[in-house]
Amino acid sequence: LAEVKDLSKSFDDLLILDRIDLSIEQGEIVVVLGPSGSGKSTLLRCLNFLEMPEKGKIRIADQQVNVEKISQKEILKLRRKTAFVFQNYALFKNKTALENITEALIVVKGINKSKATERAKKILADVGLSDKENAWPSALSGGQQQRIGIGRAMALDADLMLFDEPTSALDPEKVHEVLDLMQQLAEQRRTMIVVTHEIPFARKVADRILFMDGGRIVEQGTPEQVLDNPQDPRTKDFLRRVL
Ligand code: ATP
Ligand code: MG
Repeated sequence: LAEVKDLSKSFDDLLILDRIDLSIEQGEIVVVLGPSGSGKSTLLRCLNFLEMPEKGKIRIADQQVNVEKISQKEILKLRRKTAFVFQNYALFKNKTALENITEALIVVKGINKSKATERAKKILADVGLSDKENAWPSALSGGQQQRIGIGRAMALDADLMLFDEPTSALDPEKVHEVLDLMQQLAEQRRTMIVVTHEIPFARKVADRILFMDGGRIVEQGTPEQVLDNPQDPRTKDFLRRVL
């Protein structure tokens, strides 16, 4: 479904992504682990062009680009093939729960308001928040806000969903409601890349785990391979600290 070749990105002359190669199958659930600063967020952000990568090729579905030669038009087209779920939800604060989703459908998908409302109500039901249609984000718990954030990403119906630590801003007792929703999406075989520190989730849901360090993918494999039998010393060291 998606392919990344030789993707590099620097900040201030510091190489943050170092020639990343990655290929993702349709329906695959990929979890990315790695220490702070290893480039996990930057990788996701480059796939969504929230950051502009410097070098390399990206293909998502039928669109292939060389990032050095990409036009603004191609960026917009490619960006619509992914949906991003942020650590801090990034909801519109002056829009209700329902409007946060309808807005995405109207602006990004060009759907008319009545259709968008109908579809957004279905999505709110899917994320278990039908009763919160008219609530402002500030009146919702972190877990509820993030379920809206995920609902908004679901509404975009993108080829690839990107989650950057979707539960790390939540109170511990709210984490499971978001992970449960993500597990449902995984069971529907929505293709996704998830950066998370939730190891039990990774074990249960991931088809493949990537371990990043220093801007490179240093190890990857099934959860059993990476979590139970890590080969690289950096993976071993990381797991010793988090498990
Ligand atoms: P964490 O687990 O803490 O979220 P991460 O693996 O997501 O870490 P990144 O956020 O991708 O790491 O950052 C990788 C490196 O790039 C860090 O050293 C960070 O300081 C640097 N970096 C990230 N964004 C920028 C930016 N906009 N400008 C300058 N440096 C940046
Ligand atoms: Mg990060």
